[in-house]
Amino acid sequence: MLTEKRKLAKGTPYETWLHLFHGKLSGPNVMIVAGIHGKEVGSIRAAQELVKQLRNQELTIRRGTLIVVPIANQPAFKKRVRGNPDLNRTFPRGSDRRATHEMSRALFKIMQNYNPDWYLDLHEANGLSSKSKNVLGQTLITNPGNAAVPTVQKIIKQINATSIRPSHHFHIRLHKLKGSSRTAASEHIHARSVTVETCWSLKMNTRIEYQTQVVRHFLREAGLLQK
Ligand SMILES: [Zn+2]
Repeated sequence: MLTEKRKLAKGTPYETWLHLFHGKLSGPNVMIVAGIHGKEVGSIRAAQELVKQLRNQELTIRRGTLIVVPIANQPAFKKRVRGNPDLNRTFPRGSDRRATHEMSRALFKIMQNYNPDWYLDLHEANGLSSKSKNVLGQTLITNPGNAAVPTVQKIIKQINATSIRPSHHFHIRLHKLKGSSRTAASEHIHARSVTVETCWSLKMNTRIEYQTQVVRHFLREAGLLQK
C-alpha cells in the first residue's frame, strides 16, 4: 500500500490534510470526508482513527484508492461549532457546477480529479432514528435513486443484526439536500453517495465505534478491504 498526504486549501484558515492510500491492485476510488460540520466530533475522531490505522499498517487497502479528509472545516472544528456559513450548503447545486466557498471548492475539485465510485460524508445528528422519523441520529442517508441504495439497505441490516441495542438501530433516509457534498457527489460525480449520521448524545466511544463499523462495511463492499 502506497501512502501520500498533502495539504488542501493551503495558506487559508481552512488548510487541512488530505490522505491517500493506494492498494497494490487496481480498483475503485472511495472518498471519505468528515468534519464538514465542526462540532460533530465522533465522526471526525473516527476518520482520524482510520487514517492512523492505515498509516500504522494495522489496516491495509488491498485494491483501489482511499481518499480521506478527516477535518474538512478546521475553523469550525477548532471552535466546536457547526460552521458559518454551513459548508454543507455551498457545494454545486443543480446545473451550476460552481461551489460557493473556498473549502467546498477544494473538496469538489478532489471529487472531480479522482471521480470516486463511492463518497462517504461523516456527520453526527440529534436523536435516535428508532424513536422518531423526524431525526437523523443513527441514519445512513442517500439521494433518491442513487446506486448506493441496495448496499445501504444491506449494511443497515447487517449492523442491526449484531448485538447493537435496538434503540441504536440504523435506518435509511432518502433525501436530496441541495448544496450538500452528498448531493453534489451524487448528481455531478455520479458516485454512490452516502451520509453517515451517528447520534451525538451517545458516549463518544460508542459513536466512534458505530462510525468505524459503518465505514468498514462500505470499504469491504467497495472491495478495498479483504472480506
Ligand atoms: Zn453534520
